[in-house]
Amino acid sequence: MAATVIDGKAVAASVRERVSRQVKESMEQLGRPPGLATVLVGEDPASAIYVRRKREACDEVGIRSYHHEPGASISQEELLDLVGELNESDEVDGILVQLPLPEQIDAEAIVAALDPAKDVDGLTATSAGRLARGEPGLVPCTPSGVMELLASAGVEPEGAEAVIVGRSNLVGRPLISLLLGANATVTVCHSRTRDLPEVCRRAEILIAAAGRPALVTAEMVREGATVIDVGTNRTDDGLVGDVEFDSVKEVAGAITPVPGGVGPMTIAMLLANTVQAAVWRGVLESRLAST
Ligand code: NAD
Repeated sequence: MAATVIDGKAVAASVRERVSRQVKESMEQLGRPPGLATVLVGEDPASAIYVRRKREACDEVGIRSYHHEPGASISQEELLDLVGELNESDEVDGILVQLPLPEQIDAEAIVAALDPAKDVDGLTATSAGRLARGEPGLVPCTPSGVMELLASAGVEPEGAEAVIVGRSNLVGRPLISLLLGANATVTVCHSRTRDLPEVCRRAEILIAAAGRPALVTAEMVREGATVIDVGTNRTDDGLVGDVEFDSVKEVAGAITPVPGGVGPMTIAMLLANTVQAAVWRGVLESRLAST
């Protein structure tokens, strides 16, 4: 039987509705809308589109975005100053510095300068450390979107064999902690994994985040498994994931498409993190962010 296709657009819409309600409720306590600062440096067209979409999504749910677009030639020092100002600003609950940054900028140093309480991308060592230790904190948006998709599909990670393909700081590694935190048995594969098909076949939950088109084929998928495709690859055939969708959907129990699966979740989770960041800063009661 063909797999259920998990509709990321619908799940993302429900997250946005939830955030929109939280924003309305938070106005009374904050006396202002939650605020997200977006920083776009350089002329990367894809980055410009991502930031524009993020700001539009903020508008839609009532989060105020404060956009900064310093010139591409900004120095490290000047960008650090801007981050410092945003760290101090009372109206700014979350800060998003769109990556990649131009080559004169040390991106690691910029991320390290972010106030962890405003780190809505979950990229600082503090956020990563909290997540790895199983402590509450701000979680990177794409991995938390994956968890939200699993929940929406009624998939219970507890006790399940979960296999992640990819170990990046942005996706694979945070997923290890999130799935462990949900009591799954977690295996991580990467480019040096000796027998990828054999390990993938164990998975009841298989998450592909390698950035390799058609890496995961039907022979690598256990009957009835839930397959989440994080891959976003631009090819001559358009945008494709890491999973060979047509063949895998005949074996899997549930599967996310590309586009329309994990992609729409990332921005939705950024909005959720911005409200959560207001909680971290102590300006909003935690009760609100969990409703
Ligand atoms: P990355 O390049 O930083 O990491 C890729 C990981 O995959 C590495 O750990 C590498 O070891 C592993 N890998 C590569 N080839 C492999 C192979 N043949 N077998 C097993 N493992 C292999 O990439 P990333 O930033 O983690 O992104 C992964 C994919 O997810 C990309 O396609 C990216 O565009 C996509 N992505 C999508 C979203 C979204 O919003 N949908 C967000 C972030 C990343």
